Amino acid sequence: MKKVVKFGGSSLASPEQFEKVGKIIKSDPHRVYVVPSAPGKRFDGDEKVTDMLYGAYALAKKKKSFTKELNAIKARYQEIIDGLKLKVSLSGEFDKIKEDFEKTCGEDYAASRGEYLNGILLAAYLGYEFIDAATVIFFHKNGDLNVEKTQKCLSEALNNTPKAVVPGFYGAMSDGTIHTFSRGGSDITGSLVAKACRADVYENWTDVSGFMVADPRVVKNPKSIETITYRELRELAYMGATVLHEEAIFPVRKEGIPINIRNTNAPEDEGTWIVEGTVQKSKYVITGIAGKKGFCAINIEKDRMNSEIGFGRKVLQAFEENEISFEHVPSGIDTMTVFVHQSEFVEKEQRVLAAIHKLARPDSIDLETDLALIAVVGRGMKDTRGTAGRIFSALAHANLNVKMIDQGSSELNIIIGVKNDDFEDAIRAIYTIFVDTQI
Ligand code: ASP
Repeated sequence: MKKVVKFGGSSLASPEQFEKVGKIIKSDPHRVYVVPSAPGKRFDGDEKVTDMLYGAYALAKKKKSFTKELNAIKARYQEIIDGLKLKVSLSGEFDKIKEDFEKTCGEDYAASRGEYLNGILLAAYLGYEFIDAATVIFFHKNGDLNVEKTQKCLSEALNNTPKAVVPGFYGAMSDGTIHTFSRGGSDITGSLVAKACRADVYENWTDVSGFMVADPRVVKNPKSIETITYRELRELAYMGATVLHEEAIFPVRKEGIPINIRNTNAPEDEGTWIVEGTVQKSKYVITGIAGKKGFCAINIEKDRMNSEIGFGRKVLQAFEENEISFEHVPSGIDTMTVFVHQSEFVEKEQRVLAAIHKLARPDSIDLETDLALIAVVGRGMKDTRGTAGRIFSALAHANLNVKMIDQGSSELNIIIGVKNDDFEDAIRAIYTIFVDTQI
Protein backbone atom coordinates (compact mmCIF):
# COMPACT_ATOMS: atom_id res chain seq x y z
CA MET A 1 0.00 0.00 0.00
CA LYS A 2 1.37 3.39 -1.04
CA LYS A 3 -0.06 6.81 -0.32
CA VAL A 4 0.91 10.12 -1.88
CA VAL A 5 0.24 13.06 0.38
CA LYS A 6 0.08 16.65 -0.80
CA PHE A 7 0.04 19.50 1.70
CA GLY A 8 -1.26 22.95 0.81
CA GLY A 9 0.35 26.25 1.75
CA SER A 10 -1.56 26.87 4.96
CA SER A 11 -0.56 23.36 6.17
CA LEU A 12 3.11 24.35 5.85
CA ALA A 13 3.04 28.03 6.73
CA SER A 14 4.83 27.88 10.11
CA PRO A 15 6.86 25.54 12.33
CA GLU A 16 3.68 24.60 14.21
CA GLN A 17 2.01 23.57 10.98
CA PHE A 18 5.12 21.59 9.94
CA GLU A 19 4.85 19.68 13.21
CA LYS A 20 1.25 18.74 12.47
CA VAL A 21 2.29 17.58 9.01
CA GLY A 22 5.17 15.54 10.48
CA LYS A 23 2.78 13.82 12.88
CA ILE A 24 0.33 12.98 10.10
CA ILE A 25 3.07 11.47 7.94
CA LYS A 26 4.68 9.52 10.76
CA SER A 27 1.34 8.11 11.90
CA ASP A 28 1.00 6.06 8.72
CA PRO A 29 4.03 4.26 7.19
CA HIS A 30 2.23 4.11 3.83
CA ARG A 31 2.61 7.87 3.39
CA VAL A 32 5.81 7.58 1.41
CA TYR A 33 5.73 10.41 -1.13
CA VAL A 34 5.08 13.96 -0.04
CA VAL A 35 4.30 16.97 -2.23
CA PRO A 36 4.48 20.37 -0.48
CA SER A 37 3.20 23.79 -1.53
CA ALA A 38 5.09 26.96 -0.64
CA PRO A 39 4.37 28.42 2.83
CA GLY A 40 0.93 30.04 2.73
CA LYS A 41 -0.80 32.47 5.06
CA ARG A 42 -0.22 32.04 8.80
CA PHE A 43 -3.09 34.32 9.75
CA ASP A 44 -5.70 36.53 8.09
CA GLY A 45 -3.96 39.32 6.24
CA ASP A 46 -0.65 37.44 5.98
CA GLU A 47 1.00 37.02 2.57
CA LYS A 48 1.70 33.76 0.75
CA VAL A 49 5.37 33.19 -0.06
CA THR A 50 4.44 32.64 -3.72
CA ASP A 51 2.94 36.15 -3.86
CA MET A 52 5.99 37.57 -2.08
CA LEU A 53 8.20 35.96 -4.72
CA TYR A 54 6.14 37.39 -7.57
CA GLY A 55 6.40 40.79 -5.88
CA ALA A 56 10.17 40.64 -5.41
CA TYR A 57 10.68 39.46 -8.95
CA ALA A 58 8.56 42.28 -10.38
CA LEU A 59 11.01 44.72 -8.78
CA ALA A 60 14.03 42.79 -10.08
CA LYS A 61 12.58 42.96 -13.58
CA LYS A 62 12.33 46.73 -13.31
CA LYS A 63 15.94 46.76 -12.10
CA LYS A 64 14.80 48.12 -8.73
CA SER A 65 16.14 46.94 -5.40
CA PHE A 66 14.41 43.83 -4.04
CA THR A 67 16.66 43.25 -1.00
CA LYS A 68 13.97 44.07 1.55
CA GLU A 69 11.45 41.80 -0.17
CA LEU A 70 13.89 38.91 -0.46
CA ASN A 71 14.85 39.30 3.20
CA ALA A 72 11.19 39.03 4.19
CA ILE A 73 10.99 35.74 2.25
CA LYS A 74 14.20 34.52 3.89
CA ALA A 75 12.66 35.30 7.27
CA ARG A 76 9.65 33.10 6.51
CA TYR A 77 11.92 30.08 5.97
CA GLN A 78 14.22 30.97 8.86
CA GLU A 79 11.19 30.98 11.17
CA ILE A 80 10.55 27.38 10.14
CA ILE A 81 14.21 26.34 10.44
CA ASP A 82 14.52 27.88 13.91
CA GLY A 83 11.16 26.63 15.13
CA LEU A 84 11.97 23.06 14.15
CA LYS A 85 15.66 23.33 15.11
CA LEU A 86 16.69 22.05 11.69
CA LYS A 87 20.36 21.78 10.86
CA VAL A 88 19.85 23.26 7.40
CA SER A 89 21.03 26.53 5.99
CA LEU A 90 19.38 28.08 2.96
CA SER A 91 21.86 30.92 2.62
CA GLY A 92 23.60 29.35 -0.40
CA GLU A 93 20.19 28.88 -2.03
CA PHE A 94 19.25 32.50 -1.37
CA ASP A 95 22.54 33.76 -2.84
CA LYS A 96 21.76 31.84 -5.99
CA ILE A 97 18.17 33.12 -6.08
CA LYS A 98 19.39 36.71 -5.72
CA GLU A 99 21.83 36.22 -8.57
CA ASP A 100 19.19 34.60 -10.76
CA PHE A 101 16.70 37.39 -10.03
CA GLU A 102 19.31 39.94 -11.08
CA LYS A 103 19.74 38.05 -14.32
CA THR A 104 15.93 38.20 -14.72
CA CYS A 105 15.61 34.47 -14.92
CA GLY A 106 11.85 34.43 -15.46
CA GLU A 107 8.71 34.81 -13.39
CA ASP A 108 8.02 31.08 -13.27
CA TYR A 109 11.47 30.36 -11.90
CA ALA A 110 10.93 33.03 -9.26
CA ALA A 111 7.56 31.65 -8.16
CA SER A 112 8.78 28.06 -8.12
CA ARG A 113 11.38 28.80 -5.44
CA GLY A 114 8.62 28.81 -2.82
CA GLU A 115 7.92 25.10 -3.26
CA TYR A 116 11.58 24.27 -3.95
CA LEU A 117 12.82 25.70 -0.64
CA ASN A 118 9.88 24.33 1.34
CA GLY A 119 10.61 20.90 -0.16
CA ILE A 120 14.20 21.05 1.04
CA LEU A 121 13.07 21.89 4.57
CA LEU A 122 10.34 19.28 4.67
CA ALA A 123 12.68 16.55 3.39
CA ALA A 124 15.21 17.45 6.10
CA TYR A 125 12.51 17.47 8.77
CA LEU A 126 11.09 14.09 7.75
CA GLY A 127 14.40 12.44 6.88
CA TYR A 128 13.06 11.78 3.34
CA GLU A 129 14.98 12.14 0.08
CA PHE A 130 14.50 15.44 -1.83
CA ILE A 131 13.72 15.14 -5.54
CA ASP A 132 13.84 18.47 -7.39
CA ALA A 133 10.68 18.64 -9.54
CA ALA A 134 12.77 20.17 -12.36
CA THR A 135 14.40 16.75 -12.84
CA VAL A 136 11.19 14.73 -13.05
CA ILE A 137 8.35 16.95 -14.32
CA PHE A 138 8.64 18.22 -17.88
CA PHE A 139 6.84 20.68 -20.10
CA HIS A 140 6.76 21.21 -23.84
CA LYS A 141 7.84 24.58 -25.23
CA ASN A 142 4.19 25.70 -25.48
CA GLY A 143 3.73 25.16 -21.75
CA ASP A 144 1.75 21.90 -21.96
CA LEU A 145 2.85 19.08 -19.74
CA ASN A 146 5.09 16.55 -21.49
CA VAL A 147 3.10 13.58 -20.26
CA GLU A 148 5.31 10.76 -21.58
CA LYS A 149 8.64 12.18 -20.43
CA THR A 150 7.20 13.10 -17.03
CA GLN A 151 5.70 9.66 -16.50
CA LYS A 152 8.96 7.96 -17.48
CA CYS A 153 11.36 10.11 -15.43
CA LEU A 154 9.07 10.46 -12.43
CA SER A 155 8.34 6.75 -12.11
CA GLU A 156 12.02 5.88 -12.53
CA ALA A 157 13.03 8.32 -9.81
CA LEU A 158 10.31 7.10 -7.44
CA ASN A 159 11.19 3.44 -8.07
CA ASN A 160 14.70 4.20 -6.87
CA THR A 161 13.59 6.24 -3.85
CA PRO A 162 11.42 4.57 -1.24
CA LYS A 163 10.53 7.82 0.58
CA ALA A 164 10.75 11.23 -1.03
CA VAL A 165 9.58 14.83 -1.04
CA VAL A 166 8.80 16.26 -4.50
CA PRO A 167 7.99 19.99 -4.43
CA GLY A 168 4.75 20.95 -6.16
CA PHE A 169 3.81 23.57 -8.76
CA TYR A 170 6.76 23.45 -11.17
CA GLY A 171 8.88 21.46 -13.56
CA ALA A 172 11.24 22.24 -16.43
CA MET A 173 11.27 22.53 -20.20
CA SER A 174 13.77 20.39 -22.11
CA ASP A 175 16.29 23.25 -22.08
CA GLY A 176 16.13 23.43 -18.28
CA THR A 177 14.00 26.59 -18.05
CA ILE A 178 11.65 26.39 -15.07
CA HIS A 179 7.94 26.42 -15.84
CA THR A 180 5.01 26.38 -13.42
CA PHE A 181 1.44 25.14 -13.58
CA SER A 182 -1.27 27.74 -13.01
CA ARG A 183 -1.90 28.92 -9.44
CA GLY A 184 -2.77 26.14 -7.03
CA GLY A 185 -0.86 23.76 -9.29
CA SER A 186 0.81 21.71 -6.54
CA ASP A 187 -2.39 19.66 -6.62
CA ILE A 188 -1.44 18.61 -10.15
CA THR A 189 2.08 17.60 -9.08
CA GLY A 190 0.55 15.43 -6.34
CA SER A 191 -1.70 13.77 -8.86
CA LEU A 192 1.21 13.08 -11.23
CA VAL A 193 3.28 11.59 -8.42
CA ALA A 194 0.34 9.38 -7.42
CA LYS A 195 -0.02 8.18 -10.99
CA ALA A 196 3.71 7.58 -11.47
CA CYS A 197 4.08 5.41 -8.37
CA ARG A 198 0.67 3.74 -8.83
CA ALA A 199 -0.45 4.88 -5.43
CA ASP A 200 -3.46 3.36 -3.72
CA VAL A 201 -4.70 6.77 -2.67
CA TYR A 202 -3.85 10.40 -3.26
CA GLU A 203 -4.39 12.34 -0.04
CA ASN A 204 -4.73 16.08 -0.50
CA TRP A 205 -4.34 17.83 2.85
CA THR A 206 -5.69 21.34 3.18
CA ASP A 207 -7.37 23.50 5.82
CA VAL A 208 -10.96 22.29 5.40
CA SER A 209 -12.43 18.87 6.08
CA GLY A 210 -13.24 18.20 2.45
CA PHE A 211 -15.96 19.51 0.19
CA MET A 212 -19.00 20.99 1.82
CA VAL A 213 -22.56 20.45 0.62
CA ALA A 214 -22.76 24.24 0.18
CA ASP A 215 -20.41 27.20 0.39
CA PRO A 216 -19.75 27.99 4.08
CA ARG A 217 -19.86 31.70 3.23
CA VAL A 218 -23.52 31.24 2.34
CA VAL A 219 -24.69 28.41 4.62
CA LYS A 220 -23.52 28.39 8.22
CA ASN A 221 -21.58 25.25 9.16
CA PRO A 222 -22.59 23.18 6.17
CA LYS A 223 -22.23 19.40 6.30
CA SER A 224 -19.29 17.95 4.46
CA ILE A 225 -19.58 15.52 1.57
CA GLU A 226 -18.32 12.02 2.37
CA THR A 227 -18.08 10.66 -1.16
CA ILE A 228 -18.37 12.45 -4.47
CA THR A 229 -17.83 11.16 -7.99
CA TYR A 230 -15.53 12.88 -10.46
CA ARG A 231 -18.52 13.86 -12.59
CA GLU A 232 -20.36 15.45 -9.69
CA LEU A 233 -17.21 17.26 -8.71
CA ARG A 234 -16.81 18.63 -12.20
CA GLU A 235 -20.35 20.05 -12.12
CA LEU A 236 -19.79 21.69 -8.75
CA ALA A 237 -16.31 22.94 -9.58
CA TYR A 238 -17.62 24.51 -12.76
CA MET A 239 -20.11 26.40 -10.65
CA GLY A 240 -17.38 27.78 -8.46
CA ALA A 241 -16.86 25.19 -5.68
CA THR A 242 -13.09 24.94 -5.39
CA VAL A 243 -10.88 22.95 -3.10
CA LEU A 244 -8.80 21.18 -5.69
CA HIS A 245 -7.18 22.35 -8.94
CA GLU A 246 -9.36 21.08 -11.78
CA GLU A 247 -6.44 19.65 -13.74
CA ALA A 248 -5.41 17.52 -10.78
CA ILE A 249 -8.23 15.12 -11.42
CA PHE A 250 -7.27 13.77 -14.81
CA PRO A 251 -4.03 11.82 -14.05
CA VAL A 252 -5.43 9.91 -11.08
CA ARG A 253 -8.88 9.44 -12.54
CA LYS A 254 -7.42 7.55 -15.48
CA GLU A 255 -5.56 5.24 -13.11
CA GLY A 256 -8.54 4.66 -10.84
CA ILE A 257 -6.77 6.21 -7.86
CA PRO A 258 -9.20 7.84 -5.40
CA ILE A 259 -8.49 11.28 -3.95
CA ASN A 260 -9.08 11.90 -0.27
CA ILE A 261 -9.36 15.56 0.74
CA ARG A 262 -8.25 15.92 4.38
CA ASN A 263 -7.80 18.65 6.96
CA THR A 264 -4.33 19.13 8.49
CA ASN A 265 -5.93 20.94 11.43
CA ALA A 266 -8.44 18.13 12.07
CA PRO A 267 -6.66 14.94 10.96
CA GLU A 268 -9.24 12.72 12.63
CA ASP A 269 -11.92 13.87 10.16
CA GLU A 270 -12.42 11.44 7.27
CA GLY A 271 -12.67 14.26 4.75
CA THR A 272 -14.13 13.76 1.30
CA TRP A 273 -13.46 10.83 -1.02
CA ILE A 274 -13.44 11.64 -4.71
CA VAL A 275 -14.01 8.48 -6.71
CA GLU A 276 -14.78 7.33 -10.23
CA GLY A 277 -17.93 5.48 -9.24
CA THR A 278 -19.60 4.35 -6.06
CA VAL A 279 -22.60 2.37 -4.91
CA GLN A 280 -22.67 4.42 -1.74
CA LYS A 281 -25.71 6.61 -1.61
CA SER A 282 -25.09 10.20 -0.68
CA LYS A 283 -26.67 11.03 2.63
CA TYR A 284 -29.06 13.69 1.42
CA VAL A 285 -30.26 12.80 -2.15
CA ILE A 286 -28.29 15.78 -3.34
CA THR A 287 -24.50 15.75 -3.11
CA GLY A 288 -23.85 19.47 -3.30
CA ILE A 289 -25.10 22.91 -4.26
CA ALA A 290 -22.96 25.57 -5.91
CA GLY A 291 -23.60 28.63 -7.98
CA LYS A 292 -22.34 31.78 -9.58
CA LYS A 293 -23.62 35.29 -9.94
CA GLY A 294 -23.21 37.67 -12.84
CA PHE A 295 -25.11 36.24 -15.75
CA CYS A 296 -27.47 37.86 -18.18
CA ALA A 297 -30.19 36.41 -20.33
CA ILE A 298 -30.91 37.34 -23.91
CA ASN A 299 -34.55 36.48 -24.63
CA ILE A 300 -35.33 36.11 -28.32
CA GLU A 301 -38.86 35.87 -29.67
CA LYS A 302 -40.06 34.98 -33.12
CA ASP A 303 -43.44 33.86 -34.22
CA ARG A 304 -43.36 30.24 -35.45
CA MET A 305 -39.77 29.84 -34.32
CA ASN A 306 -40.37 26.17 -33.65
CA SER A 307 -40.89 25.37 -37.32
CA GLU A 308 -37.96 27.42 -38.65
CA ILE A 309 -35.14 24.98 -39.23
CA GLY A 310 -31.75 26.33 -38.23
CA PHE A 311 -33.04 29.17 -36.06
CA GLY A 312 -31.11 28.06 -32.98
CA ARG A 313 -27.92 27.68 -34.95
CA LYS A 314 -28.22 31.20 -36.37
CA VAL A 315 -28.72 32.70 -32.91
CA LEU A 316 -25.78 30.83 -31.44
CA GLN A 317 -23.64 31.79 -34.44
CA ALA A 318 -24.02 35.41 -33.37
CA PHE A 319 -22.38 34.50 -30.06
CA GLU A 320 -19.72 32.34 -31.67
CA GLU A 321 -18.73 35.09 -34.10
CA ASN A 322 -18.14 37.35 -31.11
CA GLU A 323 -16.29 34.68 -29.16
CA ILE A 324 -18.77 34.44 -26.33
CA SER A 325 -19.51 31.04 -24.86
CA PHE A 326 -23.04 30.39 -23.67
CA GLU A 327 -24.01 28.66 -20.44
CA HIS A 328 -27.58 27.51 -21.00
CA VAL A 329 -30.17 27.78 -23.71
CA PRO A 330 -33.66 27.07 -22.39
CA SER A 331 -36.34 27.45 -25.03
CA GLY A 332 -40.09 27.65 -25.51
CA ILE A 333 -42.20 27.30 -28.65
CA ASP A 334 -41.61 30.80 -29.95
CA THR A 335 -38.89 31.90 -27.56
CA MET A 336 -35.30 31.04 -26.95
CA THR A 337 -33.10 32.36 -24.14
CA VAL A 338 -29.34 32.42 -24.08
CA PHE A 339 -27.54 32.71 -20.73
CA VAL A 340 -24.06 34.23 -20.88
CA HIS A 341 -21.55 35.71 -18.45
CA GLN A 342 -22.48 39.35 -18.07
CA SER A 343 -18.86 40.50 -17.93
CA GLU A 344 -18.10 38.83 -21.27
CA PHE A 345 -21.27 40.08 -22.90
CA VAL A 346 -21.35 43.74 -21.84
CA GLU A 347 -18.58 45.05 -24.02
CA LYS A 348 -19.79 43.18 -27.10
CA GLU A 349 -23.52 43.46 -26.59
CA GLN A 350 -24.42 45.72 -29.50
CA ARG A 351 -22.36 43.66 -31.89
CA VAL A 352 -24.04 40.45 -30.71
CA LEU A 353 -27.53 41.94 -30.91
CA ALA A 354 -26.88 43.27 -34.40
CA ALA A 355 -25.62 39.84 -35.44
CA ILE A 356 -28.72 38.10 -34.03
CA HIS A 357 -30.94 40.52 -35.96
CA LYS A 358 -28.99 40.01 -39.14
CA LEU A 359 -28.70 36.22 -38.93
CA ALA A 360 -31.98 35.14 -37.32
CA ARG A 361 -34.41 38.05 -37.97
CA PRO A 362 -36.28 37.73 -34.65
CA ASP A 363 -39.46 39.68 -33.83
CA SER A 364 -37.99 41.01 -30.61
CA ILE A 365 -35.06 40.67 -28.24
CA ASP A 366 -35.04 41.67 -24.62
CA LEU A 367 -32.30 41.54 -22.08
CA GLU A 368 -32.32 40.67 -18.42
CA THR A 369 -29.27 41.33 -16.27
CA ASP A 370 -27.94 40.48 -12.80
CA LEU A 371 -28.93 36.85 -12.75
CA ALA A 372 -27.37 33.96 -10.87
CA LEU A 373 -27.23 30.28 -11.71
CA ILE A 374 -27.41 27.60 -9.05
CA ALA A 375 -26.53 23.96 -9.69
CA VAL A 376 -28.05 21.28 -7.48
CA VAL A 377 -25.92 18.21 -8.10
CA GLY A 378 -26.40 14.63 -7.03
CA ARG A 379 -26.02 11.14 -8.42
CA GLY A 380 -28.93 10.17 -6.16
CA MET A 381 -31.43 12.41 -7.96
CA LYS A 382 -31.87 9.94 -10.81
CA ASP A 383 -33.45 7.36 -8.57
CA THR A 384 -35.44 9.65 -6.33
CA ARG A 385 -38.80 10.96 -7.31
CA GLY A 386 -39.82 14.47 -6.41
CA THR A 387 -36.40 16.08 -6.19
CA ALA A 388 -37.31 18.92 -8.56
CA GLY A 389 -40.61 19.34 -6.75
CA ARG A 390 -38.86 19.75 -3.42
CA ILE A 391 -36.44 22.29 -4.82
CA PHE A 392 -39.20 24.45 -6.26
CA SER A 393 -41.49 24.24 -3.29
CA ALA A 394 -38.56 25.26 -1.07
CA LEU A 395 -37.93 28.26 -3.32
CA ALA A 396 -41.64 29.16 -3.43
CA HIS A 397 -41.89 28.97 0.37
CA ALA A 398 -38.94 31.32 0.63
CA ASN A 399 -40.75 33.69 -1.72
CA LEU A 400 -38.11 33.44 -4.41
CA ASN A 401 -38.83 33.78 -8.07
CA VAL A 402 -37.29 31.18 -10.40
CA LYS A 403 -36.16 32.64 -13.71
CA MET A 404 -34.97 29.49 -15.43
CA ILE A 405 -34.87 25.74 -14.97
CA ASP A 406 -32.61 23.34 -16.80
CA GLN A 407 -32.17 19.66 -16.02
CA GLY A 408 -29.29 17.89 -17.72
CA SER A 409 -30.20 14.64 -19.48
CA SER A 410 -27.83 12.77 -17.17
CA GLU A 411 -30.14 13.75 -14.29
CA LEU A 412 -27.01 14.55 -12.37
CA ASN A 413 -27.90 18.18 -11.94
CA ILE A 414 -30.68 20.72 -11.99
CA ILE A 415 -29.74 24.29 -12.85
CA ILE A 416 -31.87 27.13 -11.57
CA GLY A 417 -31.65 30.77 -12.56
CA VAL A 418 -32.59 33.43 -10.00
CA LYS A 419 -31.91 37.13 -9.49
CA ASN A 420 -28.44 37.89 -8.11
CA ASP A 421 -30.13 39.36 -5.02
CA ASP A 422 -31.94 36.08 -4.32
CA PHE A 423 -28.84 33.92 -4.77
CA GLU A 424 -27.88 33.34 -1.12
CA ASP A 425 -31.48 32.87 0.05
CA ALA A 426 -32.12 30.36 -2.70
CA ILE A 427 -29.07 28.27 -1.79
CA ARG A 428 -30.06 28.34 1.87
CA ALA A 429 -33.63 27.29 1.07
CA ILE A 430 -32.44 24.32 -1.02
CA TYR A 431 -29.85 23.31 1.58
CA THR A 432 -32.43 23.41 4.34
CA ILE A 433 -34.98 21.27 2.56
CA PHE A 434 -32.49 18.53 1.71
CA VAL A 435 -30.04 18.56 4.58
CA ASP A 436 -31.74 20.02 7.63
CA THR A 437 -35.19 18.54 7.13
CA GLN A 438 -33.77 15.46 5.40
CA ILE A 439 -37.01 13.87 4.27
N1 ASP B 1 2.20 28.06 -4.29
C1 ASP B 1 1.44 28.06 -5.49
C2 ASP B 1 0.27 29.02 -5.37
O1 ASP B 1 0.17 29.75 -4.39
C3 ASP B 1 1.01 26.70 -5.90
C4 ASP B 1 0.21 25.93 -4.90
O2 ASP B 1 0.15 26.28 -3.73
O3 ASP B 1 -0.38 24.91 -5.27
O4 ASP B 1 -0.54 29.10 -6.25
